[in-house]
Amino acid sequence: MTLRADQLTLSLIPGQPVLTDVSIRVTPGKVTALVGQNGAGKSTLLKALSGELTPEQGKVTLHDKPIHDWEGQDRARLLSVLPQQHALNFEFRVEEVVTLGRYPHGTGHQRDKQIVKEALALCDLSQFSQRSIDDISGGERQRVHLARVLAQIWETQPEGPCFLLLDEPTTGLDLSHQQALFKAVQYFARREVGILLVVHDLNLAARYADQVVLMHQGHIVAQGTPDQVFQADTLQRYFDLAVTVQRHPRHDCPLIIPD
Ligand code: ADP
Ligand code: MG
Repeated sequence: MTLRADQLTLSLIPGQPVLTDVSIRVTPGKVTALVGQNGAGKSTLLKALSGELTPEQGKVTLHDKPIHDWEGQDRARLLSVLPQQHALNFEFRVEEVVTLGRYPHGTGHQRDKQIVKEALALCDLSQFSQRSIDDISGGERQRVHLARVLAQIWETQPEGPCFLLLDEPTTGLDLSHQQALFKAVQYFARREVGILLVVHDLNLAARYADQVVLMHQGHIVAQGTPDQVFQADTLQRYFDLAVTVQRHPRHDCPLIIPD
């Protein structure tokens, strides 16, 4: 019971594959960090996993059923996606945006209201709930969208574990809210949610991810625990940057320092 991609090849321009033979499994109960340079294919892989893009080869399955065979609302109860860019054309209040995450569920007004309240509190947004989404800072807006996608997978589902795909969720967040985001993500992982998130801060990935997947030019070039993937020679090769990798002085994880 998982969300998985098998041997995906996908081109956005004919003859120029953006993903080549990519296989990945989003494991329930685990936080998987997807890392790699700009243009490596991370967002494209997330879009293929969510069914937004269709690969020309390979397949994506959610709980053993092809992603495109799922009816939209059924799929949305199990799979929640935070894209890199958000398009909202209406002047919603913060609370209304988070309530959008409850639309696939038939849990009723009272229960939805409660979940929205809890999701807002978790993302430190309670004081903004009545504010227009246009009248808050960029980082606060990012947290509103995070609260929305968390509200969407707030409760366990009879069909099996839920999945959360987050594309650069820490963009615009200050240091303490970055830490809070990863703590929230770990909390959901403990409730058997499978999480795949794109992150550029390798030290955040090192500390909070159970698994790391490294992409380079449309290929997965390394995967494993942070200790396995974050080796100095691997990082030098795929990020084109000399780094020193040490033990973190306070936590049981590697610490990556650019030279
Ligand atoms: P990442 O998220 O890892 O930075 P993307 O998956 O967004 O990378 O993009 C992978 C590659 O596909 C890049 O070379 C990018 O320029 C290209 N690309 C992205 N979107 C499009 C598009 N709509 N049409 C053509 N090429 C695209
Ligand atoms: Mg991207």
